Amino acid sequence: MRRGNKRVAKSDLPQKDCKTCGRPFTWRKKWEKVWDDVLYCSDRCRREKTKGTGV
Ligand SMILES: [Zn+2]
Repeated sequence: MRRGNKRVAKSDLPQKDCKTCGRPFTWRKKWEKVWDDVLYCSDRCRREKTKGTGV
């Protein structure tokens, strides 16, 4: 048996391109209040936003 009545319209969710890795990422519940400020797909990318200096 499949559970077929759970329909999630993923295409309805907004998307952005990560400023670090350039990959598109989709709106997440945890970002609902800060979506305008979200520029990176993950904390990792956010930390790596300034690549090039150091090390
Ligand atoms: Zn990223």
